[in-house]
Amino acid sequence: MRLIKCMLTANDCYKAGRTITPKGVMVHSTGANNPLVARYVQPVEGQSNEAQLKAEIGGNRNANDWNNPGLDVCTHAFIGKLADGSVGTVQTLPWNHRGWHAGTGTSGGSANNTHIAFEICEDDLTDEGYFRKVYQEAVELTAMLCKTYNLNPLADGVVICHSEGYQRGVASNHADVMHWFPKFGKSMDTFRADVSKAMTPAQVKPQPPVSGKTYTVVKGDTLSEIAQKYGTTVDTLVQLNGIKDPNLIVVGQVLKLPGSTTGFTPYTVKVTVTELRIRSGPGTDTQAQGFIEPGVYTIVEEADGPGAKRWGKLKSGAGWISLDYAEKV
Ligand SMILES: [Zn+2]
Repeated sequence: MRLIKCMLTANDCYKAGRTITPKGVMVHSTGANNPLVARYVQPVEGQSNEAQLKAEIGGNRNANDWNNPGLDVCTHAFIGKLADGSVGTVQTLPWNHRGWHAGTGTSGGSANNTHIAFEICEDDLTDEGYFRKVYQEAVELTAMLCKTYNLNPLADGVVICHSEGYQRGVASNHADVMHWFPKFGKSMDTFRADVSKAMTPAQVKPQPPVSGKTYTVVKGDTLSEIAQKYGTTVDTLVQLNGIKDPNLIVVGQVLKLPGSTTGFTPYTVKVTVTELRIRSGPGTDTQAQGFIEPGVYTIVEEADGPGAKRWGKLKSGAGWISLDYAEKV
């Protein structure tokens, strides 16, 4: 997820300054064919980071963005195309600010009082590539918000779209996003499931052997000698073979050796950032699969991919991480 902050400080909703205790997330889409976030979000003229935000988000020659007084709408974020054409998220209200996005439902209640909301910028609803990117971005944003506010995305009424809000009597009668998601095989049920999956830390599974190469322990061997002989480390052998006591190997024991199928020698990295995303492949364009906890991990393969200088495959089989946030140890 790429998250930029550009608060709509000139919008009356921002100025109203009311806060909520978030109980859920409401997903909207704009209902107009314009995938550019710049259509809706611009910095205020003269604000200190105006030039930088305009460079990232893009400009709006029509000056019809929502950072103006006199509008009766505002959400917490927009997902859509940024200046460089990539898909990202721009936060426009503090997350616990009361937004104006749901109107009033048939029950007389409003999700404005309970739900954080974001708008996905619609295109002409025929581009599957664009849809997949904004869907994934929305999954990641919602997962982050659910983590932040301790919300269960699978619980009743927590993660809903505008049209579901209407059915529940807490939002006005709009079709979003169910006029769009099903065109590409998605629904709010798949969305909630994907959010839940994205929140689950990847499980460390037993590691299949990296290569077919093995070594059979003979009398007098020590793990450190074997490691030295094969250009690896005791730690790597310990992890690769699930050895509990590095001082205890027995004659005839078959040890897996790292890396010979790819010629790549696995190495250990330290991850210190929280919530580093795990992905199904090398690149931000692949499926998010939860977060990696800070700690020490073994990398068994490297590759280039979008969103990071270099990607590394986790030995646990959980997926790939950006090596920009991992320090070789
Ligand atoms: Zn809506």
